[in-house]
Order: sequence, then structure tokens, then C-alpha cells
Amino acid sequence: MESEAGWLKERIRDIPDFPKPGVVFKDITPLLADTEAFRFTIDALCEHFAGHRVDKVLGIEARGFIIAAPVAYRFGAGFVPVRKAGKLPWTVEKQEYLLEYGSDLLEIHRDAVAPGERALIIDDVMATGGTAEATVRLVEKLGGEVAGFGCVIELGFLGGRAKLAGHEVVSLIEYE
Ligand code: AMP
Repeated sequence: MESEAGWLKERIRDIPDFPKPGVVFKDITPLLADTEAFRFTIDALCEHFAGHRVDKVLGIEARGFIIAAPVAYRFGAGFVPVRKAGKLPWTVEKQEYLLEYGSDLLEIHRDAVAPGERALIIDDVMATGGTAEATVRLVEKLGGEVAGFGCVIELGFLGGRAKLAGHEVVSLIEYE
């Protein structure tokens, strides 16, 4: 995929030591602001999962929302937000996931994915894969099936893909 989307990488801005020392933050705002790059990103993710049944597209807070919503629109599927603890107003299902130091919670509304529905999970960046894995667990808790996981950027050197074994994982840009 890298050769196809190599030019896309030029629209990713590396921000060293953000939000904390040692992290190189992958800023996708130049990509989002570029008409061609944004359109390519949405179309490429949709094309990878074309032919799959997708009933819901799940966006992970917050940058995942920006990518997931137009993907849902193109699939003719519903959009579902997966949010950090305490942000969703109604009854939620929760999943804890590990951070470098400590843990955090992701939540989804209990009725967001019906039993048997197929959910495509979308985020901007996959790093350790912990966030994506927790979202897979949320879909399973609701009785849904995971149609796949798509992201713009994969930090391949962190090995996150291994946490999603058995699921189709698509990234447009991979950093080895
Ligand atoms: P992880 O659970 O480690 O795969 O982290 C993925 C989540 O953290 C995604 O929602 C990303 O938006 C965010 N994230 C992790 N690392 C980075 C990074 N280097 N640049 C931008 N976002 C990141």
C-alpha cells in the first residue's frame, strides 16, 4: 500500500515530543486540509473493504470520527462513536485497555451495534494496537461481528497488528 499512497506521507506532519517527551506525534491535519489527500484517504479505505458487509462504522475518539463518518456515508452504513470514559450520555458498555503507564476506558452505547451486525472500526493512527483491540472487545460484548480495522497510519515497529490477529487490518501509510 505504501507505494500507492507514498505521496500521502508528505501530508503527515511529525511533531517530536508531543504530547510528551519521546513521542513523535503524527499530525494528520495537513492531510485533512488537502482536498485530494482527504478524498484519497476516504476512498482508499472504502475500496479496501468493498465487498464486505458493513452495517456500522465505528470511529474512535477523536480523530477517528473525522475519518469514520465519511466512510460510513460511502458504505450507506450508520456511524457509531467510541469514546473515552464519561463522554457518552446513555447506557454504555465499557472496555479497559492498557496504556504505557496505567490504563484507560473506552465506551460505546449499548444499542450502537445490534447482535449480528458487522462493524468496521476506523482510527487515524494504530500504535500499540491497544485502542483498536479494546474496540474489538466492545463490538464482541454487544454481540456484533468485526468487519475489519482501517487506519490512515500504522506505526508498524510497535507491532499493534498482532493484537488484531484474525481480523483484516488495513493501513494506508506504514512506518517500519
Ligand atoms: P494505540 O492504542 O497505542 O494503538 O494508540 C492509538 C491511539 O492513540 C489512536 O487513537 C491515535 O490517535 C493515538 N496515537 C497513538 N500514537 C500516536 C502518534 N504517534 N501520533 C498520533 N496519534 C497517536
